[in-house]
Amino acid sequence: MIRINENYLKLTSSYLFVEIARRVADFQKRNPDKGIIRLGIGDVTRPLPQACVDAFSKGVAEMGKASGFRGYGPEQGYAFLRDQIAKADYKSRGVDIDADEIFISDGSKCDTGNIQELFANDISVAVPDPVYPVYVDTNVMAGRSGAFADGRYGGFIYLEGDMANGFVPAPPSCRADLIYLCYPNNPTGAVAAKAQLKEWVNYAKENKALILFDAAYEAFITDKSIPHSIYEIEGAKDVAIEFRSFSKTAGFTGTRCAFTVIPKNCIAYDNNGNKHQLHGLWNRRHSTKFNGVSYPVQRAAEAVYIGDGPAQVREIIDYYMANAKLIREKMEKLGYKCAGGVNAPYIWVECGSDSWAFFDMLLNKAGVVCTPGAGFGRCGEGFIRISAFNSRENVEKALGKIEGAVS
Ligand SMILES: *Cc1c(COP(=O)(O)O)cnc(C)c1O
Repeated sequence: MIRINENYLKLTSSYLFVEIARRVADFQKRNPDKGIIRLGIGDVTRPLPQACVDAFSKGVAEMGKASGFRGYGPEQGYAFLRDQIAKADYKSRGVDIDADEIFISDGSKCDTGNIQELFANDISVAVPDPVYPVYVDTNVMAGRSGAFADGRYGGFIYLEGDMANGFVPAPPSCRADLIYLCYPNNPTGAVAAKAQLKEWVNYAKENKALILFDAAYEAFITDKSIPHSIYEIEGAKDVAIEFRSFSKTAGFTGTRCAFTVIPKNCIAYDNNGNKHQLHGLWNRRHSTKFNGVSYPVQRAAEAVYIGDGPAQVREIIDYYMANAKLIREKMEKLGYKCAGGVNAPYIWVECGSDSWAFFDMLLNKAGVVCTPGAGFGRCGEGFIRISAFNSRENVEKALGKIEGAVS
C-alpha cells in the first residue's frame, strides 16, 4: 500500500492568498464598474532592466550556434556569475566570501525551503512571527512540528515581533538549534541593526546553533548603517547561511535566479558531536537534486553587476522606494503607526482592528487590495501589509482613495 507523508496533513491550507482572491472576486462581481488597485502583492511590476534583457538575448543566441552551445552547466553555477557576486556583493563591503562558497539556484523560496533537509528531525526550530510561510511549512512537512492549534504549530519557538521591539525580536532565553531570520523583512519591512544581528550571532555561537539569514530584500536598504549581509557581523561565517535572490532586486520573479552562501567554516554536528562542514553537505544535495540554472538566465543575472546594469537596477529600486515613502507618509498622516517602507518595499500598518475587517473596509470603500497581517502569523493580527510594487500612478490613486475611505 502506498502511504503518504502524514506531516502534510498537519499543514493548514494556504488560506491567505486564496482567501484574498476570493474576496476580491466577490467584490468585483458585486461592483463590476469599480476598478481595484492591488497593493497586496509581493511581486514586482516593472520590466527587466535593459542590460539584463540584452544579456539574456545574447545568451539565447549563443545557445543557438554550434560555437556557443552549452549543455549541462555546473550545478553550483557558472564561475562568471559566482565571481561577480563574490566581488560586488561581498568583497566590496569588506566581507571575504569566495566564489565557491556561493551556490546559484533558481530561487530563494526553494533554497530556504530545501536547506532544512540537511538537519536532524529532532532539532528545535525558531521562526519569526509574523513570518514568510515557507520557513514554517517546510519544517512541518519534514515532521519537526506538532499539530496546528490556535494559529500556531506545536514544537516551534516563535520569535514574536511587535511595535515595541520594532519587529526585530531578540534571541530567546531557551535553546534553539535552527533560527530563521529575514532582514529586510517580509512582511514587516523591518531591518536589523548591526548590534541586533551581533546578539544573534553570539547566541548561535553559545548554543551551537545555525542562523538561516534571508536577505532577499537587501538591495532595498537605504540606511547606510544597516548591514546588507549577516557576514558583516564578525564570526557570522561560522554560524550562518545567507540567501539572496535576483527576484526583487532586478525583477527576476518570472526569470528565476538566486543564490545561497555557505561559508566553508560554517559547521553543524553529528550525533556524536563531531563537526561537519555544511558546505560539503549542501554541495552534495545541490548536485544530486538540482541541475543548474539555464545559461542565458545566469548571463542575465551577471548583467546586474556590469556595464549599465547597476545603474538600471538602482533606478528600478529607487522607483519602488519612492512609492514606499509616499505610502508610509500618507498612512502616518492619516494617523496610523507604521513599520517598514524605509529599507524595504513593504509598509506594515497598525490598523487598530481585526486585520481582515480592515482589509474588507479598504476593499469595499477604497477599492484597494492590501494583505491582512493575520495571514503571516498570530502577531500579524491588527496589522496590514501594503506593498510598494506598483506604478506611481496606481499608488497615488490608491492613497487618495484610502484617504477618502478612512477620513
Ligand atoms: C520574494 C522572497 C524571496 C525570493 O524568492 P525567489 O524564490 O527567489 O523568487 C525570498 N524570501 C522572501 C522573504 C521573499 O519575500
